[in-house]
Amino acid sequence: MSKGQLYIVSAPSGAGKTSLVKALLEQDKTIGVSVSHTTRAQRPGEIDGVHYHFVSQDVFRQMIGEGAFIEHAEVFGNFYGTSVVAAEKILNEGKDVILEIDWQGAQQVRKQIPESIGIFILPPRKEALLERLNSRGQDDDAVIAGRMAKAVSEMSHYPEYDYVIFNDDFTFAVAELASVFRAERCKLQRQQQVNARLLAELLSEV
Ligand code: GDP
Ligand code: ADP
Ligand code: 5GP
Repeated sequence: MSKGQLYIVSAPSGAGKTSLVKALLEQDKTIGVSVSHTTRAQRPGEIDGVHYHFVSQDVFRQMIGEGAFIEHAEVFGNFYGTSVVAAEKILNEGKDVILEIDWQGAQQVRKQIPESIGIFILPPRKEALLERLNSRGQDDDAVIAGRMAKAVSEMSHYPEYDYVIFNDDFTFAVAELASVFRAERCKLQRQQQVNARLLAELLSEV
């Protein structure tokens, strides 16, 4: 079984990253998303172990000390991190893995795994971020104001990624996201790795 590819998906809060990844996973069962650890408060409807592993600051610090994280960062005053266990769990199922992480985490992952593929999600207009965070209805006004204040500096990191998707029409954006995975899977090196036996057979003289 060949190991899957690692994809990083980043976006300013409210751009639609989580919704897009969820829709992609529903149509492609060969992709999984790594469940991060976080110290932020659980939102209504979020399930521990599904959306995040919700942990205390003490547990998070202990995990840093144990070297449990591939990357970790402070985002909007809370700690977030991708554990080695969470990412490997998906890769060991033979799936490609998506890390839904911020730009700081993305920089750390890229250093360790240069072949990782980065995708940045942008909104069609600045105002859409505020509208969407309000319509999601899960964060209070102070939290939303804090996230909006950081939006421009977060978006400024888009050139560090391989692909950029504008999430205007949702269905169209999901199709674009799926296309990135399709194209990556057709790349020469990937095909040589995944279809090594077939290629050898096709090229053998009879
Ligand atoms: P949302 O993106 O608005 O739904 O808000 P979240 O609270 O889910 O995420 C806040 C920020 O933390 C986002 O920028 C995420 O990309 C980032 N984030 C989430 N999980 C991780 C992680 O495991 N590592 C890092 N570095 N960032 C993360
Ligand atoms: P993020 O994970 O980037 O913070 P979410 O996926 O939680 O963003 O999306 C924020 C809100 O915007 C959600 O309420 C979601 O339903 C909505 N949303 C996502 N994509 C679109 C879109 N293309 N058009 C309108 N609303 C959207
Ligand atoms: P939220 O709290 O709204 O779920 O996420 C806020 C931000 O944290 C998002 O931009 C998200 O990408 C980021 N984030 C979530 N998990 C991780 C993680 O494991 N690592 C890093 N670096 N960022 C994360």
